[in-house]
Amino acid sequence: MKPETLFYIIIAILVISFVIDQLLDYLNAKHFNDPLPIELQDVFDEAEYKKSQRYKKERYKFGILTATISLIATLLFFFFDGFAFVDSFARSVSSNEIIIALVFFGIIMMAGDILSTPFSYYSTFVIEEKYGFNKTTRKTFFLDKLKGWLMGAIIGGILLGAIIWFYQSTGQHFWLYAWGIITVFTIFMNLFYARLIVPLFNKQTPLKEGSLRSEIEKYASKVGFTLDKIFVIDGSKRSTKANAYFSGFGSEKRVTLYDTLIKDLNEDEIVAVLAHEVGHYKRNHIIINLSAAIITTGFTLWLLSLFIGNPLLSEALNVSQPSFHIGLVAFGVLYSPISGITGLLMNYLSRKFEYQADNFAKHTYAAPPLISGLKKLSKNSLSNLTPHPLYVFAHYSHPTLLQRFRNLRK
Ligand SMILES: [Zn+2]
Repeated sequence: MKPETLFYIIIAILVISFVIDQLLDYLNAKHFNDPLPIELQDVFDEAEYKKSQRYKKERYKFGILTATISLIATLLFFFFDGFAFVDSFARSVSSNEIIIALVFFGIIMMAGDILSTPFSYYSTFVIEEKYGFNKTTRKTFFLDKLKGWLMGAIIGGILLGAIIWFYQSTGQHFWLYAWGIITVFTIFMNLFYARLIVPLFNKQTPLKEGSLRSEIEKYASKVGFTLDKIFVIDGSKRSTKANAYFSGFGSEKRVTLYDTLIKDLNEDEIVAVLAHEVGHYKRNHIIINLSAAIITTGFTLWLLSLFIGNPLLSEALNVSQPSFHIGLVAFGVLYSPISGITGLLMNYLSRKFEYQADNFAKHTYAAPPLISGLKKLSKNSLSNLTPHPLYVFAHYSHPTLLQRFRNLRK
């Protein structure tokens, strides 16, 4: 194959995935004005429903704008040999392949982040602000960026450095070692994310003694579940949107409730949401998801090991000296259709798991408070209650509110 052919395959993948995304968004947007299903008519009153429609439309238009600009910037970078330019700059800094790769990705990531910052600023301080969701201050917004960069540089730098070092010392077998280190890192993060990373961004406090805590403990002991770590996180520092999640496993397992969730839902509803989270744990979803992520990573790295030594990858990007980092960029794009498919599978599995967790909550606690809790959450985040089925299939990690309602009512 000629390098130009591979170059145009890469461009085609970028353009086709843009077109598919836009088509799905368009299909979904055509249903923004559908009448609400009878079961969900009590979610919004007339004024709130109008407001939710304005919100959806504004988000949709903003999505078209950002995706288009991002595609144009990416294509310009590819057509004007941006990678070759950054590569030669990185080579002027050092002759060590690991440092070259770190400088290379450092520049690309920084540039991408700086370009996207005005858009995320607009999204937070104009759109979210207008609909009353935003609670972030400008200081928090920029501090978050800074912390994100530092964390990315440290964690990404160590992992990438190690992987290239494995590549230099073991050749094609590097993927096994890379898989090992990423697996250890993934499990470590799964266990200690809440202890190590979350405190950098949020305050977490144990749920204080009181009727809510004792209701939760009563439920937990009824289903034979040791739950001594229940934390409240100050989600209200950034947004009014509410959430709850389960993390870790073994003795590190914990439930985190957003303070916004506690404010918006009554006690029964919170316990029902918590019962849903316990359901995820009891049905082994945490371990299954973790295993699926580890297996996918192994498959990706193995595939990478088959292609990474081929100079064609670098030549396609007009870089004369083949290297791991340039190969990784080309491979990243070529692999994206496959990761698109594994993403669809993971979303499908995730929606199955949501039903199982809902059923667990229904059988061990009760369905009505979960239904009313979910309705409140949808109302308060101005959710789209009439998404297009294809859009749901592609993007939703949870069933729609209507699907969950019907399942819980069964
Ligand atoms: Zn869930």
